[in-house]
Amino acid sequence: MKFKILSIFPDILNSYLEDSIIKRAVAKKIIKIEKYDLRNWTNDRHRTVDDAPYGGGAGMLMKIEPLYQALKEIKKKSKVDVKKRKIILLSASGKTWNQKLAKQYSCLEEIIFICGRYEGVDARIKKFIDEEISIGDYVLTGGELPALVIIDSITRLLPGVLGNSASIEEESHNKKNVLEYPQYTRPAIFVAEGKKYAVPKVLLKGNHAQIKDWRHKKQKTKKINNHFADIKSGN
Ligand code: SAM
Repeated sequence: MKFKILSIFPDILNSYLEDSIIKRAVAKKIIKIEKYDLRNWTNDRHRTVDDAPYGGGAGMLMKIEPLYQALKEIKKKSKVDVKKRKIILLSASGKTWNQKLAKQYSCLEEIIFICGRYEGVDARIKKFIDEEISIGDYVLTGGELPALVIIDSITRLLPGVLGNSASIEEESHNKKNVLEYPQYTRPAIFVAEGKKYAVPKVLLKGNHAQIKDWRHKKQKTKKINNHFADIKSGN
């Protein structure tokens, strides 16, 4: 699967993309990442990508021409069937990203991301994209973090990326309204500030049927699940 990221700050993506699971997925050739500097599609001396909004208002907007030219060239070079490709504009007012969309999009072969900056992008860009996606109801400085969030959530679903595919099955949001059960590791009793925090006893006995049952119960109660209560009581 190919991820293509169009940004005016492509270098800020490097650290995240060049480490951990994403790095390994690239090394295994499960994913490929291409970063594009939007300024390469400007044709003035200052490599201008923004201008003031018509009608006035605070801040600057990203201009349509460099974005259009960049998209045109990136699409022209792409060998992927358009049905297997999506062009996503990252936007605080877009459709909210979730695990269901991550699963759907993990079946694509290519995603092209347009990362906005400043006060956003000239709205005419919407005629040239497939989806406008938000990663939540808050405003970030740019679309680069949202692009990384989407790439990460898709990549870990691709076969061969995670060591143990069972971890995806059990994870939060894999099934609608189901969150993961609480998990613990050594020590069985953790002492801090004079208090003992014990791991639930059922997890220590090695009875797999009971553990499964306990986890199932803990998994079902979305939102009202209070994992901290388990730790304090040691039930
Ligand atoms: N003026 C815009 C508004 O009110 O919606 C916010 C622009 S924001 C400062 C700059 C860019 O960051 C946006 O064009 C978008 O690409 C990105 N961005 C900010 N928040 C986002 C979010 N929650 N999800 C996805 N992208 C976001």
